[in-house]
Amino acid sequence: MTTQSTVKKGKFLYEGKAKKFYEAQEADLGIFEYTDRATAFNAKKVGQIHDKGAVNNQVSAKLFSVLEGKGIPTHFVKLLSDREMLVRRVEIIPLEVTIRNRVAGGMARQFGIEEGRRLKQPVYELHYKSDPLDDPLMNEDHALGLGLATEPELKTIRELSFQVNAALQEFFKARQLELIDFKLEFGRHKGQVLLADEISPDTMRLWQFGTEEKMDKDRFRRDLGKVEDAYQTVLTRVLND
Ligand code: 5GP
Repeated sequence: MTTQSTVKKGKFLYEGKAKKFYEAQEADLGIFEYTDRATAFNAKKVGQIHDKGAVNNQVSAKLFSVLEGKGIPTHFVKLLSDREMLVRRVEIIPLEVTIRNRVAGGMARQFGIEEGRRLKQPVYELHYKSDPLDDPLMNEDHALGLGLATEPELKTIRELSFQVNAALQEFFKARQLELIDFKLEFGRHKGQVLLADEISPDTMRLWQFGTEEKMDKDRFRRDLGKVEDAYQTVLTRVLND
């Protein structure tokens, strides 16, 4: 259990699919409140996962701290409570970056390949961040042509994403979990590109080493049961140093 916040939430700014965002006292900071709301297939399926907000807040905080320790700049400032974290405010770059170590989900569907196939090297994907369009795949030329990001920003995003993959693969391997794939978002803050949003079982696929049991949001997406148990197990292992 973390201590409760002494930082007061300011004006409510917006609500995403699983988080609410508030102003903080300092103008360039904000507060995320993680909720138990669960969505899948771009909110075509909606539900609740008991205590998911607390799990994802604390998992994200720990992973952002680990990544900061490896020199990767993130928006994370500090945990405020079980469900709240203080972050640097960013202008989100409307790209969803995916790195895949094994074939699953969207890639299995897109190319008609069986889930679980090991890739000869990690696959880096850019998606246009758009719920109505189901986050379509795009390449760097699309992003440049549409003015979504600059060439130096795209170079930084790619380099940081591979660094995140290496760091998180090692981190989870030590906790008997295999990092199959994950999604990242980046934002601009005072001229710097920062890793933003969240890194949690909502945004990663994690499989138990040995059994390949799914320990992430696929349990909710695919009605596999024991969703809460999987989230709690991931939290316990992530907090175990
Ligand atoms: P896929 O493209 O296979 O559906 O997703 C690849 C990885 O990125 C998975 O770990 C998935 O959880 C994450 N991901 C991709 N898009 C989204 C999204 O819009 N929201 C969330 N929460 N995760 C996503």
